[in-house]
Amino acid sequence: LIAKKRDSGELTADEIGSFIRGFVDGSVADYQMSAMAMAIYLRGMTDSETVALTQHMIRSGATFEWPDHLPPRIDKHSTGGLGDKVSLILAPLLACCDLIVPMISGRGLGPTGGTLDKLNAIPGFTADLTINAMRHIVQTVGCVIHGATADLVPADRKLYALRDVTATVPSIPLITASIMSKKLAEGLNALVLDVKWGSGAFMKSLVDARELAKSLVQMGTRMGLATGALITDMNQPLGRMVGNAVEVNESVDTLAGGGPNDLREITLALGIEALGLAGIESDRAEARQRLANLLDSGTALEKFERMVAAQGGNLQAPRPVAPKSEILAVRNGYIQSMDADQIGLAIIEMGGGRKRPDDALDLSVGIEMLVRLGDFVAIHQPLVHVFAPSEKAIAVHHSVLHAIHIGDDPMTPPPLIVESCHFTPSEP
Ligand code: URA
Repeated sequence: LIAKKRDSGELTADEIGSFIRGFVDGSVADYQMSAMAMAIYLRGMTDSETVALTQHMIRSGATFEWPDHLPPRIDKHSTGGLGDKVSLILAPLLACCDLIVPMISGRGLGPTGGTLDKLNAIPGFTADLTINAMRHIVQTVGCVIHGATADLVPADRKLYALRDVTATVPSIPLITASIMSKKLAEGLNALVLDVKWGSGAFMKSLVDARELAKSLVQMGTRMGLATGALITDMNQPLGRMVGNAVEVNESVDTLAGGGPNDLREITLALGIEALGLAGIESDRAEARQRLANLLDSGTALEKFERMVAAQGGNLQAPRPVAPKSEILAVRNGYIQSMDADQIGLAIIEMGGGRKRPDDALDLSVGIEMLVRLGDFVAIHQPLVHVFAPSEKAIAVHHSVLHAIHIGDDPMTPPPLIVESCHFTPSEP
């Protein structure tokens, strides 16, 4: 089967099923699965192959079923970006709109931060819940943010770990099967995806992001899940804060009706998509008003506090943030571009992300972006605040400074929300 894929053959659904079953039970060795992943990375997969891979990955573990009397279940998934804290805001916000949000999130991946790491900055918070505890919280509060359980899509757990170390992550069929198998196993009615493009995203070009969005949305829709996607910008961090405790603080501000404009705008846009997909509100202006009111009135923040408390956390307890220093511009000019990846790697370097899977994190470190693409800066103007003990701040000074490119020409930043992606099953 490896040779067939290597030579550009099309695998049948049965062949894919037996390969995945063998991988999960150990009769297909990790090195064989790695070779298969590389063959798929290089040769691609047809739509039917990607569907079969997704289905067999779902069948590798347990799936959630929800009682019929519950309101519609919805989740949101981002393909990953720097400063992307939208899940913390959107889960409680949607739960205020007669929706159930059983959100499964992950830890940091590569330079991008993970929702679960951020939430761990809240004293007492746990995302390690039994299925029963998770069900109980969902039914009493309306939302929960937890980690994948050991028996939910074990094929993805194993395959993802191999892809991470064999340079086979950025493959559209493999990403589609990985994300959609987990989402379809959650027993959802609707799913809204945030597909990021740019220097801080897996998809560095808009063309690739469009292809990924189409593949994800087609898969969800074909499998009976109301699915839509927004393609959004990740050529600079989202919001001002990057890190863990500092991102929770910014999320709380946004949940209370404040927060940076770009973060609020993306959250509202994804919320509007979600309400439409779940059949709650199809008028976009009404949906926007409803969501904005829930933020501005403090209702969404109250829901977040209830969720945090149900998961053992105390939102009032202090979340330590490391001492602050500045990095200054070395010349006058316009911000031309940012290596968002490099900013993520600086967070890892300071201990806010992992180099090895079992590294303990320093949740108090972070970076605050004081400038955005297209801004004019004067020499010696602060570009960022670094929150870290001084030796760690000094260690990343050079890489952060050089991640922010200043030039003579004015530039227009790319749009925050590029476009939406939907699919009607009659389309080819
Ligand atoms: N997120 C996932 O869950 N899987 C991928 O393959 C990429 C991003």
